[in-house]
Parts: sequence; C-alpha cells; structure tokens
Amino acid sequence: MSTRCSKCILPSDFPSVHLSKDGECNYCSLFEEKKINAPRESNKDRELKFEKILDRFKGKGQYDCLVPVSGGKDSMYVLYVLAKKYNLNILAYNFNNGFQSPLAVQNIKRAVKKLGVDLIIYKPNENMMFKFYKIFLSQAGEICGPCNTFIASMAKKIAKQNGIRLIMTGNSAKYSSAIDGVSASTYCDRKYFFSVLKEYKDIQDYMRNIFYSPIVHGFWKLTGTGPEKVDVLNYLHPGVANLQKIIEKEIEWVPPSDEYEHGDCLLNLLKDYLMCRKWGYSELTQAYSALIRNGEINREEALQKAEMEEVREPPAILESFLETIGLSNDEFEASKKRHFTDFANYSSSPLYILGKKCLNLVHQSK
Ligand SMILES: [Zn+2]
Repeated sequence: MSTRCSKCILPSDFPSVHLSKDGECNYCSLFEEKKINAPRESNKDRELKFEKILDRFKGKGQYDCLVPVSGGKDSMYVLYVLAKKYNLNILAYNFNNGFQSPLAVQNIKRAVKKLGVDLIIYKPNENMMFKFYKIFLSQAGEICGPCNTFIASMAKKIAKQNGIRLIMTGNSAKYSSAIDGVSASTYCDRKYFFSVLKEYKDIQDYMRNIFYSPIVHGFWKLTGTGPEKVDVLNYLHPGVANLQKIIEKEIEWVPPSDEYEHGDCLLNLLKDYLMCRKWGYSELTQAYSALIRNGEINREEALQKAEMEEVREPPAILESFLETIGLSNDEFEASKKRHFTDFANYSSSPLYILGKKCLNLVHQSK
C-alpha cells in the first residue's frame, strides 16, 4: 500500500514524488513556494500583461495568431476568448492523429463555425503514425511522445507558412498535472524523438523536414523572427468549473461523458492504463492533485473519484490498437519494462543547457 501526499493525492511511488516529514509532497510545497514568492498580481494585472503581448503582434498579417485545438475544454476556451473577447483573426489548427474522439471533432466543428474561425486540419500519413506508436510503445513504453512533439513542431511549421508570429495554447502552469518521470509530455522533445527512432533512418529523414533544430530556434530567438508561444491560460484562467460553463453556453461545447479528461483522444484511456500498470496510478491522479492545489476540488472528493476512475484494467481499445499497429501481446507485455527516460532528451545534454543559457544572456542584453 503506497502513501499519498497529505495535501494532494500524489502517491510516493511516483519516481519524482518525495514526501516531507509532515507527509506533504514536493509538488505541493513548490506550488505554495511559487504562490508566496510570486509578485501579488491581480487578475486585472495579468490581463493587462496579456493585452500588451497582443499589442506587439496584432494586425501584422492575415492572421493574428495560430491556436492549436484538440477539442478539449482548454483549447476550446482559448479559441473562444481570443475570437470573442479580443476579436483576433485566428487560424485554428487541429492535428488528427487518427484516434480523435468523434465528440472532440464535433466540438471543434461547432466552435469554428460559431466563432467564424478558419481551421486547418493536419492529418499525417496513417501508416507512419501506426509505426510511431509501435516503436514508441515497444521501445519507450509510452504512446504520447510522438503526438506531443509532432503537434508542437507542426504548429510552428504552419505558423511560419502562414506568416503567423504568435501561437496561443491552452496550457497552464498552475494547472499543469504532469509529473516528471511519469508523464512523457514533460520529457519528450526533438532529441528524445530521434533517440527512440535511431534505427529508422527513413522516418528520421522525413521528420527532419518538420522538426526545426535547436539552431533554428536559437536563430529565431536572437533575431525575433520565429513564432512565439504564449500559454493563454497563464493570464486568463477563470477556474476550471467556470471555464467549462462558459464554453458550454457560448459555443455549445459538449463535455465527455466518461472519466475526467478522457475526451479528446481515444488513446487517453490506453495512456492511463500504461501508466497504471507501471506505477499503479495515472495522469488522472496527477490531474486531480492539480485541482486540489488550485482549490477546485477537496481532497476527499478527488480521492474518491480517482479511486473509481483509474484505468487499472486493459481498456476496450487495446486489442484492436495492438492489431492496428502490428504489436503482439507478448511484445506489449515486454513493453512494461521499457521507459522513456532510458532515452536522452535535451535537458540531459550539458551542451544544450550551456547553449540555452548563453542564448538567454545574449537575448536579455539586447
Ligand atoms: Zn501533494
């Protein structure tokens, strides 16, 4: 039986979770520390800051910004608020990995129609995506890395192609639930992507045309010519419950009827199952912990929901998914021992860290 943090519900079994003598985890104490050290900023201050960013970019081209949308509530809210409140010319971008839930597709369709926003859908070659899932699952024990890196890189590519300087996302530092070593999303980057694919030269060559290298990113930063990413919900977050109410009313967003956050990708259940079979808990427990820290749910309720909703049994999609990507049951069982941290990423490269530090110094001195 594992011990959980006394404030949130993170278990001490997670590789980067450590409990203090009082039973509080490092994620909770870091959250409190940030709150104490952060300058006392009102919602109005944050809004003004956001408006200043908009002033720098608005009206510079056909589109003011690119908004990647998954059909989930955060990206849908960002789309709504930028179109309605700030009246921006938006290009919405949806990455179709072949496993989007029909509900997410409908939510996107309804929102862009209602808001009068242009939408670009990028659907990569299906066979290549299947190959990615097979390689990442069998080698690194996870399936989200390929989409995470691909979506972000493609957003930059589409922004560049359309002369867009601003990419507006639905990410939020305060509500970020990813735990290091458990969620591949905090780990995967271009270097990780190519490390996992090192035996597959043909895919590497193809992807090099899509992934911009750190040198290109460095050049963009120095010259101010690349697309900049802004996490809108760091400035304008009305709270999770409110946010959902607003989009349900304004753009007829329909929430998923199953477990928390399992809406936009049919592989989400599988992702949670993979985490659960490795650590005993999934991203669900991480997401509820973030909600507790933000005062959106009490610990008891979160604990109850997480206990009920954790995906501890193989989800229905598993069998057909393995068949589709061509992975045998034995290979799937063996993948339990594989972990994404066995592969290098940029944050494990001293040269990259040094380069980034130098770049920041040069950038600040300009
Ligand atoms: Zn905690």
